Amino acid sequence: MLQCLVIGSGVSGLATALSLHKAGHAAVVFEAYGGPSDGVGGFLTLAVNGFDALETLGLKETAAELGFSTPRMSMYLGSTGRHLIDFEYGGALPDGTTARTLTRSELYGLLRTEASRRGIRIEYGKRLSTVTETPDGVTAVFDDGTSTGGDLLIGADGLRSAVRTLIEPRSPSPRSIPLLNTGGIVPAPSLPPGTADTAPGQMKMIFGKRCFYCYMQDPEGRIWWFANPLQQATEDPSQLGPGELKDWLTGLVAADRTPMASIISATPDIIRPYSTFDFPSIPRWHRGRMVLVGDAAHAASPSSGQGASMAIEDAVTLGRALQGVDANAANANTVGTGTIGAALMRYEAERRGRAEAVVEWGRRNAAPKVRGQFKRVFEDLILKAVFRSLSRKAAKDFDWLYRHHIDWESKDSAGFEAPVLPRAGTGDVA
Ligand SMILES: Cc1cc2nc3c(=O)[nH]c(=O)nc-3n(C[C@H](O)[C@H](O)[C@H](O)COP(=O)(O)OP(=O)(O)OC[C@H]3O[C@@H](n4cnc5c(N)ncnc54)[C@H](O)[C@@H]3O)c2cc1C
Repeated sequence: MLQCLVIGSGVSGLATALSLHKAGHAAVVFEAYGGPSDGVGGFLTLAVNGFDALETLGLKETAAELGFSTPRMSMYLGSTGRHLIDFEYGGALPDGTTARTLTRSELYGLLRTEASRRGIRIEYGKRLSTVTETPDGVTAVFDDGTSTGGDLLIGADGLRSAVRTLIEPRSPSPRSIPLLNTGGIVPAPSLPPGTADTAPGQMKMIFGKRCFYCYMQDPEGRIWWFANPLQQATEDPSQLGPGELKDWLTGLVAADRTPMASIISATPDIIRPYSTFDFPSIPRWHRGRMVLVGDAAHAASPSSGQGASMAIEDAVTLGRALQGVDANAANANTVGTGTIGAALMRYEAERRGRAEAVVEWGRRNAAPKVRGQFKRVFEDLILKAVFRSLSRKAAKDFDWLYRHHIDWESKDSAGFEAPVLPRAGTGDVA
């Protein structure tokens, strides 16, 4: 049995602790914040491949009761209200499970409750500052002066990962995408019925004149929305007060033929706009007794709708690779069967290509949101869509993304091979 130190209690940290436990190892999670940060970040959509990975952890059924089903995306042009195209958000798993939109607190709560049920400890107020490693073990040193030892340290510490820098000091910095993220939830009785004009489960995505946004309605009649205003060097809306922020956002959508201005006005708490980054590729995901999972290894732009699902896939793949690895087997750097070194090599080999393809895919999805000329972009897109729908292969185009399955018992990696997407250069989104 390995003693594992998991740094970070986001989706990847909690899911990894559960996966390590399933593989027969002990895990403790260390989180920099003083307590659960559930409210931060609003909501997200979990794709079907994320649900498939959750099934391995025994959590799919419970997760499928959270939030609400959002299997379809419909695109519209804000200036005219014209409907452009519909997409499926990955279709359904054989048991009917579809993508679902849920609050972060629901997802974290699910993972935390399960961790606690399995006796996995989460220690808050523990910000990792450095790591020392010997052939026999690894020691995490925290900002509060305490330290703790183990056999393996997992960096689940997000976009600005400290563990990533410890593994490879020359790791590049996160790549900026010039879009801001904001959003909120409108309580049911706040707007006249029918304001949002969406079918249940339909994510209405609008390419507005000045801003991309999306809204959807849950079964209780609440309206959930997010918006991606362009990030301009000349303004910093993150500093606006609540009223000013509402006015600024309403101004961005005022010229569109959609109910978005009313939706924004009726939102009690709007998430303060924050910047978007992704992380295309780093030289290495593991070294010695340290390894990365989730955003620390491969952050995708929110436009991929995949970050949380990929984090859960990482967790399951890492746990699977570490099955049967014994702390006393050998030095972490050895690559023989049953060693930590061999398991980490296998994990990275199975995950890197897929994760990097998803990052690139997310960047491509962000590109039309960044371009000013939405109309021209969509005229192109409509043509493409027509040809796509004529092709019987259309739905299969995304099998590599949504039909990925990790078989815990199998030695082979599963799923479809990720396409090799040519990489855009830094800042080349537009
Ligand atoms: C606006 C937005 C919308 C998104 N929408 C979606 C979506 O619809 N679907 C989807 O699948 N994904 C979405 N994502 C992406 C998804 O949220 C992330 O990919 C996912 O949450 C990554 O989880 P993580 O655990 O790897 O990292 P994080 O959630 O960043 O967690 C890292 C944790 O590590 C802790 N930490 C950091 N440094 C240290 C340290 N030194 N010591 C100890 N602890 C530390 C942090 O406090 C944090 O709790 C979205 C992201 C954004 C920004």
